[in-house]
Amino acid sequence: MEPCAECGAPMEPRSCDELFQTLLALDHARQAPWGPLHGVSVACFLLQHPSRLPADDGAMAWALLHAYLEGGLDDVNQLVGRARRGNSHRAQGRPAPAVRGAALPHRDAPHSRFSVTIHDVAVDGSFPSSEFTEGVRAWAAATVDAWK
Ligand SMILES: [Zn+2]
Repeated sequence: MEPCAECGAPMEPRSCDELFQTLLALDHARQAPWGPLHGVSVACFLLQHPSRLPADDGAMAWALLHAYLEGGLDDVNQLVGRARRGNSHRAQGRPAPAVRGAALPHRDAPHSRFSVTIHDVAVDGSFPSSEFTEGVRAWAAATVDAWK
């Protein structure tokens, strides 16, 4: 079977889609480590499968990965909170997390192969908790690296 045309991962024994559904189910249980990393893991998946990017061309996903790599979940939560509040004056209470070098690549831009994909984070298909946090960090770094 051909590897995934977008992220390059093998489609066996599970396709990227099947793994993504498993990951979403874990996220939605809202338990650590999966729940808190939901936004980050979805951003990784979308940016490795650009045909699924939302109408903003992944601007939020891209900013979120940079926030995570530079400031961890605290910065991610600030970013998400600010986006939810929109232009509310309450959003001006804290300085924005720095999102350096976060210019969004064009979705059709050529990128190198991803050194870490959802298959690596899934390990045996179950996204084991003991390796998940490290796995997502490596996944996020590989995603950003490949698009540079
Ligand atoms: Zn894929």
